Amino acid sequence: MIIVFRAGATQSNVASVMKEIEDKGLKPVPLYGTERTVIAVIGDERELNEGHFESLPYVEKVMRVLKPFKLVSRETKPEPTIIDVNGVKIGSKQICAIAGPCSVESEKQMDSVASSLKKMGIRIMRAGAYKPRTGPYSFQGLGKEGLQILNEVGKKYGMATVTEVLDPRDIEAVSTHCDVLQIGARNMQNFELLKEVGACQKPILLKRGLCATIEEFLLAAEYILSHGNPNVILCERGIRTFEKETRNTLALATVPLVKELSHLPIIVDPTHGTGKKSLIAPMAKAAIACGADGFIIEVHPNPEEALSDADQQLLPSQFETLLKEIQPIVDAVGRHL
Ligand code: PEP
Ligand code: MN
Repeated sequence: MIIVFRAGATQSNVASVMKEIEDKGLKPVPLYGTERTVIAVIGDERELNEGHFESLPYVEKVMRVLKPFKLVSRETKPEPTIIDVNGVKIGSKQICAIAGPCSVESEKQMDSVASSLKKMGIRIMRAGAYKPRTGPYSFQGLGKEGLQILNEVGKKYGMATVTEVLDPRDIEAVSTHCDVLQIGARNMQNFELLKEVGACQKPILLKRGLCATIEEFLLAAEYILSHGNPNVILCERGIRTFEKETRNTLALATVPLVKELSHLPIIVDPTHGTGKKSLIAPMAKAAIACGADGFIIEVHPNPEEALSDADQQLLPSQFETLLKEIQPIVDAVGRHL
């Protein structure tokens, strides 16, 4: 059940409804929008009298949401969620451009890429310190040392940082060193990890699982919101299909569909979505054309020598060209970088 408050409802109106719900043994999860507050009720709703809430003067309406996801649903919150990361308003008219290497490899590598990205006006940098590698003998990331390098370099250049967290035991370290926590494709249905990042307030970049349906993707986001963190940025990064020419199949229809179903921002990762350098720019352009709120792209100062994903990282100069080429598409959809 979703309880939608009128625009003028006060904090104490909301608190009294939350208390009534708790007294019945259910969990109220508030979602504070710019215009109105909404409460989603989690638990056995039969305990609640819908008519009673509807009769309250500060309640606009009570809705039964039929979809399995409630808090992330557009029905619950028609206006888009906008998440501010270092002045970039993700989900607004502004297109968010996140770039950086697959992995943190050294201070020199990070400093070099950060200095190039800074000159291009990039305000959010990515790099992995904990890497989810298919094989146990592949480079696993620098761990804590990687977090420290990322943090220092981010601060030096005034860029926010995004990094993946693989293990609930690392959430504290990752959230003290970085600005956005990434949940990777392989962990999209690691429900205990989702609950834990739901308990922290940093924005979460949630990537679509390799074999996840759109409903499963939105339910993964629902886990995070229902545990108290409303700041989720979705990321379409391609799914596994029978196709072998590309690393994954970048499912761009996800973008306009998710926009219909949910108020959360969604960005696209054409790097992992294709695994091929030549396809990154065309797919980034297509992503913006179909309504994505931004893109995340791997950029490395020396891709051939990269310790992970060497085949798919762009040189800073190639990324700069992409930024120039994408501008007319950004203009055409009435947005700005
Ligand atoms: C990454 O962004 O470094 C990564 C491993 O991505 P994904 O989880 O989408 O494979
Ligand atoms: Mn990578």
